[in-house]
Amino acid sequence: MTMNLTEELTAIVGEKGILTGDDVTQRQDGWHSAPACKAQAIVRPADTGELSAVMKLCHEHNQSVVVQGGLTGLVGGARTTTHDIVISLERMRNIVEIDIQNRTMTVESGVNLQTVQEVAEEEGLYYPVDLGARGTATIGGTIATNAGGNRVLRYGMTRDSILGLEAVLPDGTIISSMSKVLKNNTGYSLPHLFIGTEGTLGIVTRAVLRLRSKPLGGATALVAVDDFANLSRLLNLAESGLGGGLSSFEVMWHSFYDLVTGTDRHRAPLPAQSAYYVIIETQGNSNEQEQERLENLLGQALECELISDAVLTQSDSEREKIWAIRDDVEALFELSPIHAFDVSLPISAMEPYIDTLQSELDRHWTDNRCIVFGHLGDGNLHIIIGQVPQSDKAAVEELVYGGLNGIGGSISAEHGIGLDKKPYLKYSRSTAEIALMQVIKQALDPKNLLNPGKVLS
Ligand SMILES: Cc1cc2nc3c(=O)[nH]c(=O)nc-3n(C[C@H](O)[C@H](O)[C@H](O)COP(=O)(O)OP(=O)(O)OC[C@H]3O[C@@H](n4cnc5c(N)ncnc54)[C@H](O)[C@@H]3O)c2cc1C
Repeated sequence: MTMNLTEELTAIVGEKGILTGDDVTQRQDGWHSAPACKAQAIVRPADTGELSAVMKLCHEHNQSVVVQGGLTGLVGGARTTTHDIVISLERMRNIVEIDIQNRTMTVESGVNLQTVQEVAEEEGLYYPVDLGARGTATIGGTIATNAGGNRVLRYGMTRDSILGLEAVLPDGTIISSMSKVLKNNTGYSLPHLFIGTEGTLGIVTRAVLRLRSKPLGGATALVAVDDFANLSRLLNLAESGLGGGLSSFEVMWHSFYDLVTGTDRHRAPLPAQSAYYVIIETQGNSNEQEQERLENLLGQALECELISDAVLTQSDSEREKIWAIRDDVEALFELSPIHAFDVSLPISAMEPYIDTLQSELDRHWTDNRCIVFGHLGDGNLHIIIGQVPQSDKAAVEELVYGGLNGIGGSISAEHGIGLDKKPYLKYSRSTAEIALMQVIKQALDPKNLLNPGKVLS
């Protein structure tokens, strides 16, 4: 970056809007042990107009740009090189409007997910997207990655909660499609160019979020299941028996439950003796009603021997303790070096897939620890393989991704492709699909300046 460009950027965003030197290198390029930021500068525009002027300037100077939100992404999508500058949305955090009548919230994309959830709830409304990194992940990041999380089963992915969106293209053009209506079949749906495309086509600056009615009550249980086949039977029973209220069906394999409850951080609500543990959550009109429905369901499941044990939570604090077990992915770092995967596959293929993977792992690395958990109702598993050297990363990835080929699986259920999964995109997408993605990228970013090298080569 030339001196000239730094000065011109500063003229647009002001001294407060640009960081250089140690202020850049002291930051990381992602979550947890991600490398230090290598970029030449971090530019922090205060609004869409400033961002548009910054992008226009970068376009004229052929300056590459990496977009960063809360840096909780797990596939290296926000990683920088020494050629890049970073665009951070950290000064664009305003809640622009809550429209109670239309049940929408208009926000700037740097606001974090938890703030949005809390502001909606203060108005008796509900933003259903939820994930463990809620306090740090930004709305822009969740849109760019089409984040899923804990309630996809009932409310869908982030895509299903976005009505309108504003983005800045690589040449600085502002595309404002801030519609508040659910139905809008007027030609191509432009917001979808930016949802799930990981900041490779444009920078999301504002969004109109779809809010739902705040569930007035709910109930949560943790159950133990001994046999994989019973998991899908239990899911079917919960779908039909909870009157459409089922909002989560999260499965932890014994390996995960045993590891996390084995730490000082958690007390095990059920003994760690079963093959699987499931968090079942229902949401509806009142606690009493949902509690009763869930209790009936558990009674039925025990009678049919689908579950071997259960605990139905009686308070918010008990509920939070159960979710804290599921959300405590930090405990997995005890098994470092670890390799983390987020795959999806048909439920019917899960058991043989995991069995085959485990025996292959055992064949290559006798000390390996394979930990599995995930959103089973969405066909999504998180697989963490611990105690395998980082130097064997490619071999582990080949085993995990190669096994998905041909069984209708996806190498990335939620986290996207970024840099880390790019070599394996071919296992989930055909040559024709990848070629079309490249045509779209070329049309919107012909100079390949925005998040270059992410998702596509
Ligand atoms: C503990 C933990 C739990 C998690 N659980 C889940 C889960 O259940 N489900 C799930 O889907 N994910 C989960 N994630 C992953 C992560 O939280 C999501 O991917 C999140 O959406 C990233 O948001 P962010 O603001 O941190 O984005 P970043 O990490 O900063 O960026 C992610 C990608 O989005 C791009 N980007 C960021 N902001 C913008 C913008 N405004 N415009 C355009 N592009 C942008 C970046 O360039 C990058 O490619 C989890 C992560 C952690 C650490």
